[in-house]
Amino acid sequence: MHNLQMVDLKGQYQKIKPEIDAAIQKVIDSTAFIKGEDVGAFGNELAAYLGVKHAIPCGNGTDALQIILMALGLQPGDEVITPSFTYMATVEVLTLLRLTPVFVDVNAETFTMDIDSLKPAITPKTKAIIPVHLYGQSADMEPLLEFAAAHDIHVIEDNAQAIGSNYTFSDGRTVKTGTMGIASSTSFFPSKTLGCYGDGGAMFTNDDALAEKLQMIANHGQRTRYVHELVGCNSRLDSIQAAVLRVKLRYLDDYCLARRTAADFYDAAFSEYEHIVTPRRASYSDHVFYAYTILLRNVNRDELRKELSAKGIPTQLHYPLPCHRQPVIASLGLPEYKLPVTDMLQDCMLSLPMHTELSNEELAYICDNLIALTNR
Ligand SMILES: *Cc1c(COP(=O)(O)O)cnc(C)c1O
Repeated sequence: MHNLQMVDLKGQYQKIKPEIDAAIQKVIDSTAFIKGEDVGAFGNELAAYLGVKHAIPCGNGTDALQIILMALGLQPGDEVITPSFTYMATVEVLTLLRLTPVFVDVNAETFTMDIDSLKPAITPKTKAIIPVHLYGQSADMEPLLEFAAAHDIHVIEDNAQAIGSNYTFSDGRTVKTGTMGIASSTSFFPSKTLGCYGDGGAMFTNDDALAEKLQMIANHGQRTRYVHELVGCNSRLDSIQAAVLRVKLRYLDDYCLARRTAADFYDAAFSEYEHIVTPRRASYSDHVFYAYTILLRNVNRDELRKELSAKGIPTQLHYPLPCHRQPVIASLGLPEYKLPVTDMLQDCMLSLPMHTELSNEELAYICDNLIALTNR
């Protein structure tokens, strides 16, 4: 009966097909596949949406982080504090640039960086902190920004999962995630809240000089064509992806709302079951639910996943192995990390289908089965 998916890109496309098809066709007709007018226009529209001075499109969210670290002039051996409970891309760019990752734990309820664990992680070599707005909710930025300012450390937001989300400061000021650090990155990987039809990413900053550097590094280190002033790379958002994203940006708030509505359904369905812990929504952030991730208490998760799968219900683990336990990290010879919350979450988290096209019927089917399979 059900053909459930973790993410339903087809259903989403069908609803805006005429607009998308026309936008793509226009790029093909222009043959301006690289640096076409949609790329610049999308950058401007994205900056306006977030309320940030500069949005610089690039090849993907991983490149975005890498280019930011390069532009800030971090040197091999510099330390960067980051949660281990994130997608490996956050950490991979550090190792690629020969920077030293310093892993901290996350809060057990919000799954974002635990501010208390920052203090013991800092050393004279610490140059930056990368909070990750995991699953679609902001890290608690106010104390983090204060801590970083006091220690003169850069804050780079990994906003790959939370674009569209807001953070509210204690004085009531509300801003978009990705606008608070010296720079931030995001990803337009198809399954992200603002996804394109291939790879894509962007960098954000309010700093004019940094923006120019980011732009240059993403384009072979050149300001003027064929004059290469900086060590750069080739990381561009292509025109077809920009055209798709210009259409989809207009629907981003609707997409966030659809995800939040599906999350509300899950929350309500699971509210009376103690063995299913629903994600906490922090008072300082709204949640755009890139992922809807529950914690299971006293449930055999692997067995449950098999049983759900047999009922046509896919699930996913975000992510199956924390970064500090990845083989490539083990080979770096870093100190032995004790991250009890990361390890605990690792063992009991489970992500349920989450996308913009979930019907109440589908949600009910998922919830009824999950409850029946675990409540015995
Ligand atoms: C998706 C993701 C990235 C990387 O983005 P790509 O566009 O796939 O390179 C980085 N960090 C986090 C937290 C992500 O979820």
